[in-house]
Amino acid sequence: MSELPYPYEAPASQSLFDRAAVVTPGGVNSPVRAFRAVGGTPRFMVSGTGPYLTDADGREYVDLVCSWGPMILGHSHPEVIAAVQEAVARGTSFGTPGEGEVLLAEEIVARVEPVDQVRLVSSGTEATMSAIRLARGFTRRTKVIKFAGCYHGHVDSLLAAAGSGLATFALPDTPGVTGAQAGDTIVLPYNDLEAVQEAFHRHPGEIACVITEASPGNMGVVPPLPGFNQGLKDTCATNGALFISDEVMTGFRTSRAGWFGVDGVRPDLMTFGKVMGGGFPAAAFGGRADVMEHLAPAGPVYQAGTLSGNPVATAAGLAQLRLLDDAAYQRLNATSEQIQALVSDALAKEGVAHTLQSASNMFSVFFTDRPVRDYDDAKAQQSFRFNAFFHSLLGNGVYLPPSSFESWFVSTAHDDRAVQRIADALPAAARAAAEATA
Ligand code: PLP
Repeated sequence: MSELPYPYEAPASQSLFDRAAVVTPGGVNSPVRAFRAVGGTPRFMVSGTGPYLTDADGREYVDLVCSWGPMILGHSHPEVIAAVQEAVARGTSFGTPGEGEVLLAEEIVARVEPVDQVRLVSSGTEATMSAIRLARGFTRRTKVIKFAGCYHGHVDSLLAAAGSGLATFALPDTPGVTGAQAGDTIVLPYNDLEAVQEAFHRHPGEIACVITEASPGNMGVVPPLPGFNQGLKDTCATNGALFISDEVMTGFRTSRAGWFGVDGVRPDLMTFGKVMGGGFPAAAFGGRADVMEHLAPAGPVYQAGTLSGNPVATAAGLAQLRLLDDAAYQRLNATSEQIQALVSDALAKEGVAHTLQSASNMFSVFFTDRPVRDYDDAKAQQSFRFNAFFHSLLGNGVYLPPSSFESWFVSTAHDDRAVQRIADALPAAARAAAEATA
């Protein structure tokens, strides 16, 4: 504990972390929460209100993580909380169909035009895993193309990183994933349409689907180059494969209809999570009716879930989505632009090389002066500067994602006061980034 590389300022969090490490591997239930990339004590949060989180030591932070995307209206939004309380009072799970599931599915279908039918699940991982199974069942093919730097949850076959070269068969990225599971995954460089065409050329009739983040946020924010998503769609269509757009992060965040609402490219299948659950475990996959009808019980491809369509989660998600009108997205975009300008100004003043990239209101800063178009570009940044930047902000009450390979998230609750607190904390953070050494 005394070896911590950063000032030890969070005794209550540290004490909880020490206890957690005894009973939970690494002390956390999702690895990024452990602060391994940036070092120091992860903050254990006890409450959230609007744009703020309060930790176990009683310190308040402006939250730029928003639970990794879901809390788009801020924490403890009164209308979402009321919907949850009302649902809870009626019971927490029935294991039968319920009206909430119908309402949430109708809301999704109404918002996202390519979605004829939708199946509710409990996590983004389940959504992408199920969509891929469905694509394989529908096409009766085995191989899947994914892109290096795109994260689709911890689905075995998608936990595969790229080697170099155009159509590298992936090696498993983690022990526990077999060569056979990863061997049907072809990992390609993001934004490289030629590599995709070449892979189809080399594997005629074998590729079931291409899955991509609609606009990636899991290597930092790296939007698709103009024409890339359309090119994927067209290449899939020509070759009898399905195009799966993973909108777990971008869905209902980047516009009313997610990234589809921005670029208009029609996927065959789409996956959703995060925002649509209102802070509860709810996710979904959906798309073309002729494909979705292959799912059990309508069709032969099995997929199920004890808590799928849970009445409390669907109530929270529906309440949140109903509040997300055009005005909400305008506000989110304006707030995001304001914060991006503040970050860029502060870093420029200290002469720190950086590139800000955004996709609607999602954004992140890369510590490089070159545009970032793929995972290799993202990895080439000076991440050590981010770590110093992160800890300075944390010490001054601004909570960023604890990694330089993540999107930052704003909410409609981020008001002038919250933005001012970020502005006040930025000069010292930019100085820390400038002074950081590898
Ligand atoms: N897909 C994308 C694009 C994601 O960003 C994530 C999670 O961050 C997932 C899938 C997995 O979602 P979950 O963490 O709910 O399993």
